Order: sequence, then C-alpha cells, then structure tokens
Amino acid sequence: MRAGPSQEEIRKHNLGTLLRHVHLGGPTSRAELTTLMGLNRSTIMALTADLTAVGLVREELPRDTGRAGRPSLVVRPESARVYVLAFDVGVDRVAAARIGLGGVILDRREAVRQRGPFDMAEVVGMLAGFARQMHRKTRADTVCVGAAAAFCGAVRKSDGVVRIGPNIGLEEGPFGDELSRKLALGLPVAVGNDANLGALAEHTRGIGMGCRDLIYLHGDVGIGGGIVVNGQLLGGFAGYGGEVGHMVVNLGGRPCGCGSRGCLEAEVGERALMEHAGRYGEAIGRDGVRAVVDAADRGDVVAQEALQRVGDWLGLGVANLVNVFNPEMVVFGGMLRELYLGSAAQVRSRINTVTLAASRERLRLRTSVLGDDATLMGAAELAFAQVLADPLEVLARFAP
Ligand SMILES: [Zn+2]
Repeated sequence: MRAGPSQEEIRKHNLGTLLRHVHLGGPTSRAELTTLMGLNRSTIMALTADLTAVGLVREELPRDTGRAGRPSLVVRPESARVYVLAFDVGVDRVAAARIGLGGVILDRREAVRQRGPFDMAEVVGMLAGFARQMHRKTRADTVCVGAAAAFCGAVRKSDGVVRIGPNIGLEEGPFGDELSRKLALGLPVAVGNDANLGALAEHTRGIGMGCRDLIYLHGDVGIGGGIVVNGQLLGGFAGYGGEVGHMVVNLGGRPCGCGSRGCLEAEVGERALMEHAGRYGEAIGRDGVRAVVDAADRGDVVAQEALQRVGDWLGLGVANLVNVFNPEMVVFGGMLRELYLGSAAQVRSRINTVTLAASRERLRLRTSVLGDDATLMGAAELAFAQVLADPLEVLARFAP
C-alpha cells in the first residue's frame, strides 16, 4: 500500500497554493485565503508566516475596509524583491524583462532583430546583455528565482531544445543552455513555444482569466497556437502540441516554410497578406500588417480584398479548431490581433457556416489584452513555476 502524503508534502503543497493565489490574484486577505483554500485561520496564519519569513510575501492592514471590526490582514506578493528573467525571441524582435512575483513588469528591454539566418551567439549575447543592464539597477536585497524564454519555434519539452523554427531559420538549437551559460547566474533557462506561453499568459492573467478551455492564436511571421484544455496547456507527447499554423486548410495551396503547402500560416501569415495586398517587400512585420488594415479602413479595395481572403482562411482554421476543441474563447494575439480586427466579419462568417452549431454556441472571439507582452508574461509564468511548486526550497537556494 502506498503511504499518503507526509505532513511536509502537505505543507509544501499548501505554501505553493497560497503563493499562487497571491501571485495570480494580487493582494488577498487572510479571510479570503481561508475560504479559497478551505483551511482554518491558524493554518493560513502559519503558512503566511513562513512565506513572510523568506521574503516572498508581506502582510499589511487593508487600506480601507469600510467595515467595522478588526480587519483581516492582506497578503501581498513581494513583487519588487522576488523576480524572474523573461525573454522573448520573435522573428523581428528580441525582448527581455524583469518580472516580479505577481506578474509585475519591473524593467524591460527590447531590440529589433534583422531577418536572415539565426545567429545563436548574437541573440544570446544581446539577451544576456539586457539581463546585465537590468540587474545593475536592482537593489541588493532582490532575488532572481528563475529564468525562461519564449521562442518562435517548436520546442522539445524534455530539454528545451528548439527543434525547428522555420521562420527564424533555427534547427536543433540548444537555446536555453546557451543562454543559461551566457547569463552565468547559475540558473537554468526554461524554453517554451511563444504561442504556448502566450496562451498560458492570457489564460492566467489576460482576457482568458477564468476560461478553462481556450485557444490562443499568435501571429508573428507565421502562426502559432496554444490550446488550453480544462485549465491545462496541451503540450502533446514531446511538447509540440498546438502547432495549428501547420494545419492544412487549403490542399495544394501556398507553399509553407515547413515544406508542406496550404498550411494555415502559409495562407494567413504576413507574406500571404502582403502579397495579396500587392505590398510585399514594402514593409515587414507589424508595420506591414497595420498598413494593409489602415488602407482597407480608408477604402483601398485591394487591401480590403486581401484582408477578406486571408480572413476567410483564418476563419476556416478557427472553425476546424472549434469543431475539435469546443473552446469557450479564441484569442487573437501578435499580428493576428490587427488581422482579426480587419477581417472579423469573414472570420465569423466562416465559423458560422463550417462549425457545428452546438460547438460554437457560446464561443467568444477576443483579442489579446496583454498585447506584445503576452509571450514575455507567459515566459515569466514558466519561470515562476518552480517557486510556486516549492517556495521555501527555491528561496533557500537563491536568496542572497
Ligand atoms: Zn506549414
């Protein structure tokens, strides 16, 4: 017979759960925590005392309760003291941020990346440089408890190796290890697919908060996806789940960077839109997409037709996903935010004609609220995962 969890395991679990409530929900009163966790007041007090002692949270009197009687102390995350390093590598930009417990962006750096072959040493050097600049500005008592990166490619779950990033020209790149070595902080750098991490961020603190079944679609040059099923990110067997950009929507259609044809990303990605609009080569990235949407708004017929065409394929892709996953919400992020806003009628109409009525009954289509920070915020959540799993152990390891 297997023994039940030990007292120590229960305590560890409760500490993590309490910290997660404060990390995701912000300042929370002891009374609320008692209700949320179904534990008695003295247990909550003891757990809070443990987390306070290592500097993860602090307790304060609430600002104004408006109620008579002794107010319940409010537990706040020590956002300025405990932080993680979050990185994002997209086709056109690299970004780094120092993100405090509670999801507060404390500092942030970003640079344009020139398209062309992927130069590991250059990208890693740039990101490590950002981290050093930000580190120099921190107070002596701050503690970095983790690091993680969002990458625009398929990432192997077991070791964080980027297996393939067709739009950025990387194959079999041990990106996390290289960045960890360059940072020289004694911290591993966890790596995740950018759209997967965007999904995680929108689900935990963005537009999809409270949605247990959600699909996040991220447009960079290509299209990525993150699928949240029953509150869990769908990773697949080896971590490549959610590659909806390579779902074929147009058999024998436009060639895709993956070697196939007619993938969602080939029909909806930046290049397709720019070519249909007769603007390929004029502007790239978000600027290019915005220019087409703006032109369509001003009555440019070619731009309008390009958006309709691309919106039609996007709608078909979303419709297939709705039939398979019956999500409560589909969130459009990255450049898909602009693209969706410019073609919402097409997308809706395709969904209405192609999906089962029952599957789309309560479907909400939304744009990302975290915007360009979604992937960085998701990377931060990945980096915080260990602290939330075992707060005291991680603090003991990293505290100055
Ligand atoms: Zn493809």
